[in-house]
Amino acid sequence: IMCVEVPKLKLNNGKLMPAIALGTYLGFDQGGVVKSVNKQLANVVMNAIDIGYRHFDTAAIYETEEEVGEGIRKKIEEGAITRDDVFVTTKLWNTQHKREQVPLALKQSLNKMGLNYVDLYLMHWPIGLNDDYTFSDVDFMETWRGLEDVQKSGLAKSIGVSNFNLDQLRRLIKEASIKPVAIQVEVHPQMIQSEIIEYAKSESMVVMGYSPFGSLVMRYGMQFPGPKIDEPILVEIASKYNKTTPQVVLRWQVDRNVVPLPKSTNLKRLKENIDIFDFKLEQYEIEKINQFHNNVRYTLPSFWQNHPYYPFEKIDNPQDNPFLNKRKQ
Ligand code: NDP
Repeated sequence: IMCVEVPKLKLNNGKLMPAIALGTYLGFDQGGVVKSVNKQLANVVMNAIDIGYRHFDTAAIYETEEEVGEGIRKKIEEGAITRDDVFVTTKLWNTQHKREQVPLALKQSLNKMGLNYVDLYLMHWPIGLNDDYTFSDVDFMETWRGLEDVQKSGLAKSIGVSNFNLDQLRRLIKEASIKPVAIQVEVHPQMIQSEIIEYAKSESMVVMGYSPFGSLVMRYGMQFPGPKIDEPILVEIASKYNKTTPQVVLRWQVDRNVVPLPKSTNLKRLKENIDIFDFKLEQYEIEKINQFHNNVRYTLPSFWQNHPYYPFEKIDNPQDNPFLNKRKQ
């Protein structure tokens, strides 16, 4: 089996992060309920390790921690890798934002994964919620103290945030005692995140890019407006390097110092997505792809938009809250 050697980025605390991660969010069912554990995912993770993936991105809310952990543990038992060879990222859910809840939440995640530490623990959102999903007034800086606690106790080697806007990230860095190593946000040709990337660079933080393919792929069985897999501008670049357009879009992220988190459960596409470390885009090609930017977000939880820490722009007709549907069932 082909095994790609993935380069690593040095974090601001000296630790190393592999430059691409496998995304493991398997999406929502039609009713908006989080899908139950996908019984195939442990095998996908094992195949991914054979191919060269060394970084896995999961979260408590994805309900995939068990299977991600199972795949990694089986490969360690086989002797294919050691725990040190893999980088595991998981995330704290919004209903566990009180300082004293953070170590408990991470211990639950670790129990599910069967691991005794994670490499990176992220605050999934700056938004604190109560158990019944009503808004909690817990400040994200209180939550950050809890993340600092789990790094100090060794349950997490590094800590960071996801879905913070620039102002929130600035405040976090100003008030933190442990600086975040990474921020995870949506990054694709229609959401190029230049400001966050530039600020993160100035603070020696890594940007992790979620939903990296943007409109190139079908999402939830739907096509969204924007560049497609056969977009001529992307095809022209791809044919120059003898690559596919999804590979070009992933490489565009790597060349902008973003760690992409492509999700695939398909063996062929798992291989395709990691095979991006033998070419490099030119600056003018990066800028051509940047031209697709039009501020489209695929993750826009407008049902939280009246929360004081909602990070994104408000819209006129907010969506119903799928988590409330989940609670009723
Ligand atoms: P992606 O951009 O990774 O798109 C995934 C889709 O693309 C799947 O349908 C997949 O299908 C398809 N696909 C994968 N590779 C290819 C390819 N080479 N050619 C054509 N189609 C392809 O989006 P996601 O929204 O899933 O995001 C990726 C990860 O980011 C998540 O799994 C999660 O880990 C993270 N994330 C984090 C969020 C946060 O709030 N922090 C929010 C959203 C995502 P198939 O599996 O069949 O290949």
